[in-house]
Amino acid sequence: MPELPEVETIASDLRPHLVGRTIVSCELRFPTIVRHPEPEVFADLIAGHRIESVKRRGKYILLALGEERLLVVHLGMTGQLRLVSPETPIPDHTHAIFTLDDGRHLRYRDPRRFGRLLLGTEAGLREARAMPKLGPEPIDPDFTGDALYQALRRRRAPLKAVLLDQKALAGVGNIYADESLHRARLRPDRIAEGVSRKSARRLHESLRESLETAIRNRGSSVDTYRDAWGEVGGQQEVLLVYGRAGQPCFTCGRPLSAVRIAGRTTVFCRRCQH
Ligand SMILES: [Zn+2]
Repeated sequence: MPELPEVETIASDLRPHLVGRTIVSCELRFPTIVRHPEPEVFADLIAGHRIESVKRRGKYILLALGEERLLVVHLGMTGQLRLVSPETPIPDHTHAIFTLDDGRHLRYRDPRRFGRLLLGTEAGLREARAMPKLGPEPIDPDFTGDALYQALRRRRAPLKAVLLDQKALAGVGNIYADESLHRARLRPDRIAEGVSRKSARRLHESLRESLETAIRNRGSSVDTYRDAWGEVGGQQEVLLVYGRAGQPCFTCGRPLSAVRIAGRTTVFCRRCQH
């Protein structure tokens, strides 16, 4: 599933190509991929609008159309947003095609269909419960180690569960939760409220390191993730624990353990993480 680094890679690759372009039409081949508003309204409202900016918030890609309206893309498990020339063959599971004023296509493809497209103002989408209220961005310079400590102190849940909670912290998923906890030498099943200020600061630092390294490596293609040009990322080659259950820990050599926390497979080292 694409997380913060993967979504950031797509948004920053698309930005110089999309800003200033106008969406001339929108073809919905699988209309229910649009969750808000009704698909017919969505297609009508979107045509003729100029893309003013391309941003990322958590795992969402936000295209600003005009003053306040946002086209929001969440890639779910297997979503891919690609910018291609119109002659490019249309692969299976392509659910939406936005034609730009330079003729190119911005296409949304999603075999498992857990992703979604939304259109509205930020407040309107939140009111319609189409988008949750997201927590702070872990790589935002204003988000400090002490802010993370305060957030953890209020929670009686395992650390891993808090990191996955988009209302607590936006953009972290299974890969970078496990990677950050390993770097911070903290067990994923530790109860958040019991973590010391010092450990919280270490976790904050580890989150930044894991996420920023992954952005530099253009994300992890552990499954179907591809960037806006259809290419794989590089971070999957250097992951410390994710997907490595049973393989030796790079620090101590002991086989890594796998447990289930918050419904997700969680990999960690029983010797290095406390
Ligand atoms: Zn170890």
